[in-house]
Amino acid sequence: MGTGIDDMKRYSMVIHGGAGTLVKGLMTTELELKYKTALHSALEVGYTLLANGGTALDAVALSVNLLENSPLFNAGKGSVFTNDGTHEMDAAIMDGKELQAGAVSLITGIKNPISLARDVMEKSDHVFLAGEGAMRFAKQQNYVLENPNYFYDEVRYRQWQGIKDSDTFQLDHSVKQEGKFGTVGAVACDQNGNLAAATSTGGMTNKKWGRVGDSPMIGAGTYANNKTCAVSCTGSGEFFIRGVVAYDVSCLMEYKGLSLKQAADEVIMNRVLKIGGDGGLIAVDAQGNIAMPFNTEGMYRAYKTSVGMEEVAIYKLI
Ligand code: ASP
Repeated sequence: MGTGIDDMKRYSMVIHGGAGTLVKGLMTTELELKYKTALHSALEVGYTLLANGGTALDAVALSVNLLENSPLFNAGKGSVFTNDGTHEMDAAIMDGKELQAGAVSLITGIKNPISLARDVMEKSDHVFLAGEGAMRFAKQQNYVLENPNYFYDEVRYRQWQGIKDSDTFQLDHSVKQEGKFGTVGAVACDQNGNLAAATSTGGMTNKKWGRVGDSPMIGAGTYANNKTCAVSCTGSGEFFIRGVVAYDVSCLMEYKGLSLKQAADEVIMNRVLKIGGDGGLIAVDAQGNIAMPFNTEGMYRAYKTSVGMEEVAIYKLI
């Protein structure tokens, strides 16, 4: 019979606020502090929940909720503009314990898309609801719709104005002039070794035709399985879909015996990069190990583990 700290399950919380080619000179100290403070608060709520014995699923939902409420990130309140001048949001959540999942896409007016995704998982017989149907489900679940003004943001508006009459779709990753990036995500391992992942996004500026990225797609932008890992991605969605990125990390661990770090690095630094995908991911395994690879100049990220490791960072660490 064992006693002591070694028998305690390690738990970990990791979050991201999007990957991108951040030009360091354009980031002011003040703005950097704002991002880091927002990331730190979102990390802390999730981590505290885990420390108090809460589930990985509750932790990722809570952290993503907070990030969605911040205007700094491209999710919830800070979502980018579509070609029609609206906001269409996508989100997914997955519980690694029973491989339960819920996802929504092309939803409008919902303050916290991740909560709706979780309701799809827990209160419907389905996994993925989109557009009008998803909105009818939200209505049935008594969601109150926010006024479009709630999602208005000057910087996002200017990004959209710059390209709205063109056929250009702009990923936050390709923006060099603005300091705003940001799909958000969270992964967690709780004290019982359960894993969960959540991702939420406004997608691409000026998107049209009902474009949906990788974020709400189980296996592409979001995946969790207690046997392997929980993953939340951020990057050029079209490539992440084609690379089935989140599931690929899990597969490399399950079928090839790679460690979390080896698998995550292989997918981001080699496989998705080879097909043209830029971005990154955050991941955690059931032992509480974490990985946060990205092939862009930076990725807004933060993590905290029960073995005392903690960091909030944006750029590559030298
Ligand atoms: N992956 C997201 C999408 O393609 C965008 C992002 O991560 O910033 O919709």
